Amino acid sequence: MKIHDISTLIHPDMIVYKNKQDKKPVITVVNDYSKGTSYESRALLDMHVGTHMDAPLHMVEGGSTIDKQDLYKCVTDCKVFDLSHVDEKIKMEDIEKYEINEGDFIIFKTRNSFSTEFDFKFVFISIEVAEFLSKRKIKGVGIDALSVERDQPNHETHDALLRNEIAVLEGLSLKDIKEGEYFLISLPLKIKGAEGAPCRAILIEK
Ligand SMILES: [Zn+2]
Repeated sequence: MKIHDISTLIHPDMIVYKNKQDKKPVITVVNDYSKGTSYESRALLDMHVGTHMDAPLHMVEGGSTIDKQDLYKCVTDCKVFDLSHVDEKIKMEDIEKYEINEGDFIIFKTRNSFSTEFDFKFVFISIEVAEFLSKRKIKGVGIDALSVERDQPNHETHDALLRNEIAVLEGLSLKDIKEGEYFLISLPLKIKGAEGAPCRAILIEK
């Protein structure tokens, strides 16, 4: 069995959305072997740090929360599409050649996976594609950007996905992943009432 780790490493200097300082993790060592007989640390994490899943509440008032996430959308077959050639956003013409069925979990690999710093022009999912995916009733969508959208004052891409209870997996690291079908495990932390939570995400080769 071959496992690919597609999670981002969490550390204080990691890439965060728009380089906002308050989104950087703070990890404090509260006990170590110089003071005692064990090592303990504490983390202050933004729910949208690194690899994470959004719940409907993130964009929909009264929407469901991450502790209620349907686990069948987190542990599932999935399809990775290599769209590394796409420059600005994923458009309908970029996905036309692929078979997308009801219940699919789709992961988009883009040039974002090769960025070594926050790219203000990261590739995102267009509104048209988000609406298409929700009409097609897929169960989840993943991307190697910290957000599925950018520069949308009304968050239409997020909205089209989350309003239809599609799992939104962001901040993936897909540099070494080839296009194809895999088994995905991506379980968000079970945090009461939260609008999203970090995940350890892996792909298992079939
Ligand atoms: Zn998010």
